[in-house]
Amino acid sequence: MSDTPDRSEQGRVEIIGGNIPKAPAGYETCNVHNGRQTVVATGATVQVNHLVAVPTSGPTLCGLTRFGPDADLPGWSMGGGVSGGTVVQKKCSPCWNRVGP
Ligand SMILES: [Zn+2]
Repeated sequence: MSDTPDRSEQGRVEIIGGNIPKAPAGYETCNVHNGRQTVVATGATVQVNHLVAVPTSGPTLCGLTRFGPDADLPGWSMGGGVSGGTVVQKKCSPCWNRVGP
């Protein structure tokens, strides 16, 4: 695997229709579905689960900027996001590898 941040639909495939992965202690999941986060999640098929250290408003562990005009992706869901029978949850490998198994 590369150490490139997962910006959209790359990364390890987790469980189709699974719940959002639980973050390790000291971290929170920060999710983006289908490469973006919209108010209405209808039609979401993939959600990438990044990690951030808490408390912080900083970047993800893989280095993606979340806020402001220079954000790498629009719209993040801190500690929440979408799940359901059609949504594949994907852990961002660079993020999760940094905190271990
Ligand atoms: Zn990440």
